[in-house]
Amino acid sequence: MNCREVNSKLAELLLDTRETPVEARRHLEGCAACRGELSELRATMNLMDDWAAPEVNPYFDAKLLARLRAEQQARPAGFWERCKARFLYGSSLRMQPLMAGALAVMFMVGGGTYFDLEVYNQRPQESATVRDLQSLDGDSQVFQQLDSVDQTADQQQPLSGEGPGSPSSD
Ligand SMILES: [Zn+2]
Repeated sequence: MNCREVNSKLAELLLDTRETPVEARRHLEGCAACRGELSELRATMNLMDDWAAPEVNPYFDAKLLARLRAEQQARPAGFWERCKARFLYGSSLRMQPLMAGALAVMFMVGGGTYFDLEVYNQRPQESATVRDLQSLDGDSQVFQQLDSVDQTADQQQPLSGEGPGSPSSD
């Protein structure tokens, strides 16, 4: 058995040594790398056994509902104003312990991969998207204004006399 085959059997080795093939155990005796791998896995499992999920604040649901209700009853400002306010001042201060807990859980569950991929990459993308949409929104407002300016200009401009059907021919 080579290291790769033994590595695929590490979980079995860890949980039930009777089930694992003799070759794997023999390889482990001679291979320090695989032994190290197995002991790391064992240490991780022990850590997971010791780890207790943090208690959730018993008032969490009530607080969340109250905040949701307040948010729903608040006068709906423009969508972008609300987004901007959230980004700039945000609820980050009050959400920080919760976010930290969530990040810790993600980090432990994902071994850091989820943390790297989702959290670090998502925030800049999100704000970039919001910025793009914001600028698009601004553009469309500008275009609307330009349109209305055009229309009023057309209405105010006297006919130049060169349009079709104009009675200016001699
Ligand atoms: Zn090996």
